[in-house]
Amino acid sequence: MTDAPSYLFYQSRNPRPFLDRGEGIYLFDEAGKRYIDGSSGAMVSNIGHSNPRVLAKIKAQMDKATFGYRLHFRTHPSEDLAAKTVAMTPEGLDRVFFVSGGSEAVESALKLARQYALTQGQGSRSKVISRFPSYHGCTLGALDLTGYDPLRAPFDPMMKGMPSIPAPATYLDRDNLSEEARGLKYAEMLRDKIIEEGPETVLAFLMEPVGGASTGALVAPDSYYGRIREICDEFSVLLIYDEVMTGAGRTGKFLAAEHWGITPDIVALSKGFGAGYAPLGAIVAGARLVEPVLDAGGFLHGFTYAGNPLACSAGLAVLEEMEDQGLIENAAKMGEVLMARLRGLMARYPFIGDVRGKGLLTAFEFVSDRETMEPLPPSLEAHARLVELAYERGLIIYSRRTRGGTAGDHFLLAPPLIITEAQIDEMMTLLCAALDAFAAETGLHVEG
Ligand code: PMP
Repeated sequence: MTDAPSYLFYQSRNPRPFLDRGEGIYLFDEAGKRYIDGSSGAMVSNIGHSNPRVLAKIKAQMDKATFGYRLHFRTHPSEDLAAKTVAMTPEGLDRVFFVSGGSEAVESALKLARQYALTQGQGSRSKVISRFPSYHGCTLGALDLTGYDPLRAPFDPMMKGMPSIPAPATYLDRDNLSEEARGLKYAEMLRDKIIEEGPETVLAFLMEPVGGASTGALVAPDSYYGRIREICDEFSVLLIYDEVMTGAGRTGKFLAAEHWGITPDIVALSKGFGAGYAPLGAIVAGARLVEPVLDAGGFLHGFTYAGNPLACSAGLAVLEEMEDQGLIENAAKMGEVLMARLRGLMARYPFIGDVRGKGLLTAFEFVSDRETMEPLPPSLEAHARLVELAYERGLIIYSRRTRGGTAGDHFLLAPPLIITEAQIDEMMTLLCAALDAFAAETGLHVEG
């Protein structure tokens, strides 16, 4: 820590200690305290910190050229990363466009969708339907599709106001439907919305296949995914998957879409794609969409840093590391272990009402009553308090205070994909200590 004034600001003033270094799943502050990076930062550091093989590859590129503007040169790192990305994604996704982050990826997907529609003589299509709650980014286009009122409210007058449907928060539903029927119920909401808006005006549907910060690792019933694809096809509405958080192996497949055999029309990637080694993101789309846009004069979109060789060499090294070390398979395996451990916590902590996730994108949610799924009183500030108690003990977790459109405290555990079973146990010991401390200070009951 330092008492020197900080001229820097983000969302708010930053009381955290200075970061010194990272090593695997661990981060160390300048006082030498060690933290388990239980959320990979913001679900970013998928291959862990300071991987020497990746650093060596980035260094090799640095020694050659750090920047070459894409209109002046082709570069091997960008071409090779595009080829690798196509090889790792399902068939039909074979064109890549690079950006530097998640919001940029979402914006790019929207603009590609729009330009594609224009090439098809469908200029009336401009509405993009998204879900509530959801998170798609902080730039105005992506924010307009983000279902999270506190972030939107000040900027509402500056946005178009796109339509949305509820995200399938089925764990809060008290209907008597089967899982399958419930998934279909939520999918039909898209069909109804498209008809309500006028199919000829609807350009695309945007969704996170597994919810991230907004819903806390919300997974829909299996029936949801296929039916959404069918509905989009029925009305020629493009299906955009925001895999900024779920992509790059996080859920135990390269894309979460693969769990359900879905091929979206456009996929947005970032976070784990550069894994914290470079600001990097991409959209991946079918040639079916991209080629007509290029034929019609080109994609009217592009960021200065897009496809720079330094970031792309980092992305390429990250994907090679994932493949060479079997990290996607490890995410699937360790995801099962972590989910089992989290479910085990429900016996001791009655205020954990739900545990969910896919691969190493997992979450648990607090309730005051498991029957009614009533959240804890907001006055407890549980989402912030548990994070602090864990941080004090050397465990970083990620939380948000929102659920199914209402208030509620959920916590994401999403460690680097390199994590071992022993390290999961280490993480759980710290988490239990934090949960015990939280129960002690709030008077919440813990089973002996
Ligand atoms: N989409 C999703 C699903 C995300 O989780 C995020 C970041 N939390 C974004 C988009 C925006 O990414 P970025 O912060 O890199 O702009």
